[in-house]
Amino acid sequence: MYDLHAHSTASDGTLTPAELVRAAAASGIRALALTDHDSVAGLAEAGAAAAEAGLRLVPGVELSVTWESRTIHVVGLNIAPDHSGLNEGMRRLQAVRFERAKEMGRRLEKKGIPGTLEIAAGLAGVGMVTRTHFARALVQLGHAASVRDVFDKFLAQGKPGHVPTVWAEMAAAVGWIIDAGGVAVLAHPQRYKMTGSWIRRLTGDFKAAGGQAIEVISGNATLSDIQTNTALARRFELLASVGSDYHGPEQVWLKLGKIPPLPDGLAPVWTRWETEQ
Ligand code: AMP
Ligand code: MN
Ligand code: MN
Ligand code: MN
Repeated sequence: MYDLHAHSTASDGTLTPAELVRAAAASGIRALALTDHDSVAGLAEAGAAAAEAGLRLVPGVELSVTWESRTIHVVGLNIAPDHSGLNEGMRRLQAVRFERAKEMGRRLEKKGIPGTLEIAAGLAGVGMVTRTHFARALVQLGHAASVRDVFDKFLAQGKPGHVPTVWAEMAAAVGWIIDAGGVAVLAHPQRYKMTGSWIRRLTGDFKAAGGQAIEVISGNATLSDIQTNTALARRFELLASVGSDYHGPEQVWLKLGKIPPLPDGLAPVWTRWETEQ
């Protein structure tokens, strides 16, 4: 079984890279992609743990992209982690990320909630500071009951902690991934809260930018999501990927190793690197 989308403490996952790899191996996953937000810092540790656990580690990343003023995620799979163009791109995204975090802290402070940047940064440790860390900080401070609650109350568009952010351009992010020898995958199409026609336009633009694959099956995808994504993969001639988007055991509704098989007739994304050898 393949799981080609998962997070560690290098971004907003709660397991260290080695813990994630061991949990994946224990759940029956044979090939795992570690895809932290805008960072490859966890890949070395994950690779070493994978060699011990007898699991194939696919080096990956999840890049933040702005398309039509919306945030879109593009996963890069089987990348060379030390490629200079990719790393330069990630450094820019990391700078944007840190400026956004400071602004989130300022905005929340203005609304009477001081100290969130410090708590979020502390929770992130050496990893990327994400909205998930702010959400955990606000839960700790008693301003919301759950991380999901925080997104609705504080971090959604129009809410006090929301900061409009300009990430990488689609074609740039896809280019960094391809230059690093990887495959660019449009992540979790249903997560963007777009209508069908917007998702088709997004997928068409992604393909035109050089994108090669689409996540047909994402964590807890419904049958209808899978059917929609299968149609998108066929229409735009994209390879098909599967990934849980696992962030750790706290997400009790999402278990590792529980991914349904890809529908027949789609070309799996891993044929790209498995036939190379
Ligand atoms: P960032 O890249 O810092 O904007 O953080 C994005 C991350 O926040 C996503 O990868 C999810 O892990 C998390 N996230 C986004 N929306 C929600 C939500 N509604 N509920 C829980 N987590 C969310
Ligand atoms: Mn995340
Ligand atoms: Mn994502
Ligand atoms: Mn993700």
